[in-house]
Amino acid sequence: MVDHLAIPVDKHHLLQAQVKDFIRDNKWYIPHSIFSNYPNIATILQDVHVPNFRMEDKLVWKHTNNGELCFRDAYLFQKHPLNETYWAKLIWNPSIPPSKSLLVWRLFHKKVPTDENLCARGCYVVSQCNLCGKAVETSQHLFWDCAFAKNLWTWLAYTVNIAIDTSSIDAVLNICKKSWSPQCKTVIIAAIVNLIDVIWFCRYKMRFDNKIISWKSASNMVISNTSLAGNHSSESSFSDMHEFVILKAFAVIIHAPKAPRIKEVLWHPPIASWIKCNIDGTSKCCPGPVACGGIFRDSNAAVVGCFAQNLHISPVFHAGLIRAMLAIELASKKGWISLWLETDSQLVFMAFKNHGLVPWRLRNKWLNCVELTKNMRFIISHIFREGNRCADIIALIGLQSNSFIWWDSIPFSVSDLINRNRLGLPSYRFC
Ligand SMILES: [Zn+2]
Repeated sequence: MVDHLAIPVDKHHLLQAQVKDFIRDNKWYIPHSIFSNYPNIATILQDVHVPNFRMEDKLVWKHTNNGELCFRDAYLFQKHPLNETYWAKLIWNPSIPPSKSLLVWRLFHKKVPTDENLCARGCYVVSQCNLCGKAVETSQHLFWDCAFAKNLWTWLAYTVNIAIDTSSIDAVLNICKKSWSPQCKTVIIAAIVNLIDVIWFCRYKMRFDNKIISWKSASNMVISNTSLAGNHSSESSFSDMHEFVILKAFAVIIHAPKAPRIKEVLWHPPIASWIKCNIDGTSKCCPGPVACGGIFRDSNAAVVGCFAQNLHISPVFHAGLIRAMLAIELASKKGWISLWLETDSQLVFMAFKNHGLVPWRLRNKWLNCVELTKNMRFIISHIFREGNRCADIIALIGLQSNSFIWWDSIPFSVSDLINRNRLGLPSYRFC
């Protein structure tokens, strides 16, 4: 406000008034001289909801949803953005021993102590690849170009039945981008990590113990280490023949996906003299503008009113709170003092239990609605969306309109669903 009014800095110490001093009888009370000199103030204030009760001024941290500033927020605000590495989550897998992931991490950072890197650090070594004896030992040669490594990568490509580009570690990890089941993805990542680790192990054995390990024995070591990782994982696999062959090749016990559970979802009418309102929201795309809808029914499951509105906002949680507030305001205007509000949004349901979840931009309006519910008999409940389809269809109508719509009777498009609810017919949820 100081910026909008362009008040000089040397006058700031004279500004002793608080926001609550400009509110009287639940309305803005701005001196006429300010309004006449700064007409844009009225435009700004019309979007700010005034609390319907006495409230102290409170500072909010506008970069967070709840308006609180905690140490974590301050850290995130100040820290320099880090480069996101897609491969970090792949190699640091809970089923793969960290000592093996560490080698791959060093390979990504070009820090594996091959002769090439030792020379770069000032060590004088006569370099020769211990696995083939035909080239200088570099990371590129040892892990990708060496005949020993090539045999192992060809064997892996044959085992998983996929062409693998072995030009670099980035190229190899590309095969993880295919839509694998969680268990099979873990097995494939573990096979890649173990194969790199086994190459390094064989090179160590040859160089320091003078022990030759053939690539076939090395491939068996990869199988045995990968089998451990795959069996340690609790993730499930798909019912897919290709994955079945891969998991069997690595001697991994297949974790079949769990059979879906079927839940019966029933809509219940309110008791006598109560009104029940089901609310829902919908959007054309995600993220995209959200519209909301609500349907008020009495104890006979008869519709006493419906509403729909295009909110033209994107955050789904904000839209969920706005439709709940809209339903409470409408019920209050209609004089329905016993209101049962039902939503399929867990977050909206939780917001009634913990007002701290409500974003600070909506909090004044939210607390005004909570004040309204204190003058009502009010309950809130959650229903799965399968039982809330009437409100969903009403919201769809709101999406096609730019203004608020109110119906006193049932819109034709939801009459079938209303009758299903009235007759107590169930919907089913697969989870
Ligand atoms: Zn070699």
